[in-house]
Amino acid sequence: MRGITPIDPTEPKKYAAAVSKLASLAVTDSAGGVAAAEVLLSLRNGYAWPASLTSLRSLDHHNLDAAVKAIRYSAQNNTDPRTVIENGDDIFDRIALTHPTLYRPLRAQDDFLNGAGQVELWVCPHCHRQRQRLQYPDWLKPAATAPWCEKYYDDDRHPEVDESDMVLTDVYTLVIERR
Ligand SMILES: [Zn+2]
Repeated sequence: MRGITPIDPTEPKKYAAAVSKLASLAVTDSAGGVAAAEVLLSLRNGYAWPASLTSLRSLDHHNLDAAVKAIRYSAQNNTDPRTVIENGDDIFDRIALTHPTLYRPLRAQDDFLNGAGQVELWVCPHCHRQRQRLQYPDWLKPAATAPWCEKYYDDDRHPEVDESDMVLTDVYTLVIERR
């Protein structure tokens, strides 16, 4: 006799636990952190935050298990992962800010440079070194994501430049032919 597969009442809790486990890895700047961030951000909005299956190879056994559980539950229940953990919105914002280049328009330089991109030119007020950076969308651009002066690391005499000291001097369109 055919029947409906009974719903395992512990499934939502397992999903929440998997999301929580991946979230604590996703806020770290590491290969595993990138993979965990890809999975979580993609479960939230896969179009804006595409995930690569090969990056799953960066996960250890326990985190891979959590990723597969989360993917499976989300596919069957369409549950936004932000809603199943405490402070989900804040935590997901933090994950996005830790890995802004996972955002589709910034993701692959190749893709980005296929057409034209907006590039910002920042200048260090101390040594006047210039630094270019792809323009992040406004929602990814709090002061914390402003670039810093790379010369600070090379030169002991260079004062520590607070990120908010860097001066945005220009924004221009960069067009590079795809080879
Ligand atoms: Zn400098």
